[in-house]
Amino acid sequence: DDRIARITSAIRVIPDFPKPGILFQDITTLLLDPVAFKDTIDLFVERYKDKNISVVAGVEARGFIFGPPIALAIGAKFVPMRKPNKLPGAVISEEYSLEYGTDKIEMHVGAVQEGERALVIDDLIATGGTLCAAISLLERVGVKVVECACVIELPELKGRERLGGKPLYVLVS
Ligand code: 5GP
Repeated sequence: DDRIARITSAIRVIPDFPKPGILFQDITTLLLDPVAFKDTIDLFVERYKDKNISVVAGVEARGFIFGPPIALAIGAKFVPMRKPNKLPGAVISEEYSLEYGTDKIEMHVGAVQEGERALVIDDLIATGGTLCAAISLLERVGVKVVECACVIELPELKGRERLGGKPLYVLVS
């Protein structure tokens, strides 16, 4: 699929961000290329349009860029999974471990109903901690997570293994 080649070359790699030694995958350059950005959304829509998905859950912050156009195209709702203390209503939250310390993601109570079918989307999977927390949060309220999807996977960090067998679809590895 030559769309993948275009997407791959539209992602910029920035060394030593946010810390020395990290090669940051910058998707803002993908957003500057309307053909590559559309190809990205189209590939996800083609995969998920007939899977009976009622919820697209996007992880802050870059899951908020890719999630909504996919949700609109497949006729699903979009649910933001946010960093702590951002959502104004009652929330449920899930803590997860980072290299140093912990972080949390939160979702509004009542945003999803038991028995719904969800796709979880983010720009990138590294250690898998973020997606693992998103899956747990949705499963706690009785939602079936059909699959997780990311534009980019960093396979050497083995994040896929942390998802406990949950399918993961990525465009660029
Ligand atoms: P994980 O929880 O899998 O270790 O990290 C994934 C999270 O960190 C995602 O929400 C992702 O946006 C962010 N992240 C980590 N490294 C990068 C990177 O190189 N580029 C981008 N765009 N996001 C990253």
